[in-house]
Amino acid sequence: MICISTRGVAPAVRFRQAVVAGLAPDGGLYVPATLERRPEHWWHALRGASFRDVAVAMAESLLGDEFAGTDLATLVADALNFPLPIVRLADGLQAMELFHGPTFAFKDIGARTLARLLALSDGGAAGSGGTRAEGLTILVATSGDTGSAVAQAFWGVAGTRVVVLYPEGQVSAVQEAQFTTLGGNVTAVAVSGTFDDCQRLAKQAFADETLRQRVRLTSANSISLGRLIPQMFYYAYAALQLPPGAGVAVSVPSGNFGNLVAGVMAWRLGAPIDRFVAATNVNDTVPRYLDTGVYESRPSIATVANAMDVGAPSNFERLQWLFGGDRTAMRGLITGNVHGDDEVRGAIAELHRRYGYVADPHTAIAYLGTQASRHPNTPAPQHLFLATAHPAKFRDVVEPAIGETVPLPGALAEAIARPRMVTRIGPALGQLANLL
Ligand SMILES: *Cc1c(COP(=O)(O)O)cnc(C)c1O
Repeated sequence: MICISTRGVAPAVRFRQAVVAGLAPDGGLYVPATLERRPEHWWHALRGASFRDVAVAMAESLLGDEFAGTDLATLVADALNFPLPIVRLADGLQAMELFHGPTFAFKDIGARTLARLLALSDGGAAGSGGTRAEGLTILVATSGDTGSAVAQAFWGVAGTRVVVLYPEGQVSAVQEAQFTTLGGNVTAVAVSGTFDDCQRLAKQAFADETLRQRVRLTSANSISLGRLIPQMFYYAYAALQLPPGAGVAVSVPSGNFGNLVAGVMAWRLGAPIDRFVAATNVNDTVPRYLDTGVYESRPSIATVANAMDVGAPSNFERLQWLFGGDRTAMRGLITGNVHGDDEVRGAIAELHRRYGYVADPHTAIAYLGTQASRHPNTPAPQHLFLATAHPAKFRDVVEPAIGETVPLPGALAEAIARPRMVTRIGPALGQLANLL
């Protein structure tokens, strides 16, 4: 798959290079140079197929020129080894649960796939029995959630090693348990300092030439195209599960807008989706753009759906590129909806009362987006909203809204019970370099 930069200056590269590079050298984001519509019979053959089959077919169609089919099939089976159930709440109303991976949020899908793509793309030691020294070291600074998703994603991936820097005593017990109890190729490093110290250390390490000659350092960049490709798979799968010809609208709880971009890319390939709802919290930069035509990023505002507290969505540039900067075309496909915290708590209560469904705050925003666009006379009778986090991750918001306790999933409870393995350092590059 040939990839180009959204800014159009950097030279075109192969997908493998785009994955290893992360950001394009002109500061833009990599996008597929073409997203040709797959023929009707191609889609028809996948109707009702399993998630695995749809994912492998799409992976081969997009990346088959760069990766062997068997590699892609193994990669999909390995990375996406958890269910993605579609839960029917009422006629024409369903939730797709994307949070059954190891960290109980949908980012597992992108991060786990990226980990394996990086290991393959790098031509590193993956699958060839090479030593770890030849492989990649993924260095990540975290205030909590990123560390667990990245550590879990790379855990056990041959040819990679993850070093997670976190501020000692400043992450939640559940978060800490998710990256300090893994062992193997994951090293958790407690820094006696703040999150800013951790981030500074990581930056210094990336900039240190002598260190980089000795250790092959990389970051698991959140804007990597390698995270968006697997997210296209579930849009296609879901649309192919719903009754043909009915018209499908998908509501996407959006922060950095990677998820929505993946949906639009699947639509461009011809996945049978008719429209999208970009549902946000009060960090409404993109809905405002859709309304007014003015793109104005703002400092982020804290909300109960904190994974969506993004004032300057990094994937907006990809969205613009997909529509050639044509807002009218974008509005023809995407509706923006903005929801405040009280409304979100109300939606959690409503989902529970009406359907017996327990939703986390991000999922509740997706549901609100669906409700706002479910007019009786609009042409999409099948509504799907994306459930992006397990409600147990946000018990402090969910439990008061539904008046019940939310049990911790077994895997989270087990992680909390396991012994922590932590290396401690001070906030100094020398100490980090020794460890690397
Ligand atoms: C990251 C995240 C989102 C937002 O996804 P984007 O791709 O950044 O728009 C929504 N819900 C949850 C739970 C998340 O972690």
